[in-house]
Amino acid sequence: MAVKKNYVCSAQADCNKTFTKYNDLKKHEAAHSPNAHICRFPGCDFATLSKPSFEIHSDRHTGEKRHKCPHGCGFKTHNPAALTRHRKAEHGHLPLSRGGRTVATSASHMTPLTACQTKPQPSPAASSAAALAAASTSVPAAAAAATPSAKQLQ
Ligand SMILES: [Zn+2]
Ligand SMILES: [Zn+2]
Ligand SMILES: [Zn+2]
Repeated sequence: MAVKKNYVCSAQADCNKTFTKYNDLKKHEAAHSPNAHICRFPGCDFATLSKPSFEIHSDRHTGEKRHKCPHGCGFKTHNPAALTRHRKAEHGHLPLSRGGRTVATSASHMTPLTACQTKPQPSPAASSAAALAAASTSVPAAAAAATPSAKQLQ
């Protein structure tokens, strides 16, 4: 007989209920807690410790779509995650839930690009000419241009 992998309830010592699905175990363990939100709809055994996720779950039963798209396209959903997905896909929305990390990343990406474009890139020849001009301080700037040809003559 093949051993089936089961998840055993660890929320309570005298409860040894087993589950084949991890999600079922999590729901069951949540139901042990006095703070659990347990769904009372017939035939539904949903339980969670998180009030927001319980509200999302309840909305699924009632069909209430309280999360409306703020971009005025008429999109409504019971699931805030689905609304965020919709806003990203349809309106190019960038959620700032992670401390504005998205914005910071794009900003730091922009900075070196703009710096490269605006900053004049010194060519190796120009910098060596400038160095030679700096070295021969007694000679005027015109000599700096003449330096490469003088070098050729040597
Ligand atoms: Zn249990
Ligand atoms: Zn339910
Ligand atoms: Zn929309």
